[in-house]
Amino acid sequence: MKTVADLEGAKLVSVQSGLDPVAEKYAIGITPAVLDLIDRNDPADPMALQFVPSTAELHTTAEERDDPIGDLSHSPVEGIVHRYPDRVLLKAVHVCPVYCRFCFRREMVGPQGLGTLTSAELDVAMDYIADHTEIWEVILTGGDPLVLSPRRLAGLMERLAKIEHVKIVRFHTRVPVVEPERIDAEMVAALTSSGKTTYLAVHANHPREFSPAARAAFKTLVEGGVVLVSQSVLLRGVNDDVETLAALMRGFVENRIKPYYLHHPDLAPGTSHFRIGIEEGQKLVAALRGRISGLCQPTYVLDIPGGYGKADIGAATVSAGDGCFRVRDWQGEEHAYPPG
Ligand code: SF4
Repeated sequence: MKTVADLEGAKLVSVQSGLDPVAEKYAIGITPAVLDLIDRNDPADPMALQFVPSTAELHTTAEERDDPIGDLSHSPVEGIVHRYPDRVLLKAVHVCPVYCRFCFRREMVGPQGLGTLTSAELDVAMDYIADHTEIWEVILTGGDPLVLSPRRLAGLMERLAKIEHVKIVRFHTRVPVVEPERIDAEMVAALTSSGKTTYLAVHANHPREFSPAARAAFKTLVEGGVVLVSQSVLLRGVNDDVETLAALMRGFVENRIKPYYLHHPDLAPGTSHFRIGIEEGQKLVAALRGRISGLCQPTYVLDIPGGYGKADIGAATVSAGDGCFRVRDWQGEEHAYPPG
């Protein structure tokens, strides 16, 4: 489902929805698996909010920017983002099976986006990784790297396998949730074929995303030797309440996915309707601390606009400036540390 007409035909939006200007700016993508999860009778359905476009996306605010996390200022060659010394992003493709309405790279992904690396560009990107011996980890993101066929992924892995100093290959993907049928033995073999330790960060934002097919995909990945971690975005109307967040994090752990990042939403254009305040986010993550197991705790992070990297913004620790800290517990009460 890729057009406004498709959405109208599926009764996901009303006819004359006014969405044509949105579709001209930002890609639309809804897979059959996602369609199954959407409740058309609920105007505030958290699945629809994530994937069905809205005219609210036409409203941009002064602080929003096309490249909210500053990828471009850290891109030495096409397809590589080198923000931290020991790791790089490798963005081989800029398409996804779905297009999330809050996407932080919405200006780069989709049919009008940055496209797929040419083979010459890929050669330069691989040479860059090979030449920088400090690169310990390669993170395949995009776009969604799992839109590539197992054959093409295996080709990429074969090239990384030859780079001795790369020890970890990490994939960031929505595929196990939104197109779980792609996760089969052939895909797992491709993902792990570099012989490096393979991590996969599963992107999910609501516990309803753990469909039986998604759970089966997670199982195939784990049992195939892939280590799973989570990434979620804290989104108004989707998961900005403690019950939903707790169920989401528990769902990850029950599926052998270690909660990793809970992102504060980035300043992507036309996404202000999804953003909550940092203080509100801190209260939510503090409430999680008291409610669910330590295994289920994500790190609440902000990608500092401009490309300055991630900051842990969940730590409710305030320096008192006198050699002592004030530490806030999960019920909001402050304690001095060291005590007394
Ligand atoms: S899958 Fe990731 S890159 Fe693609 S639209 Fe969603 S958030 Fe953006």
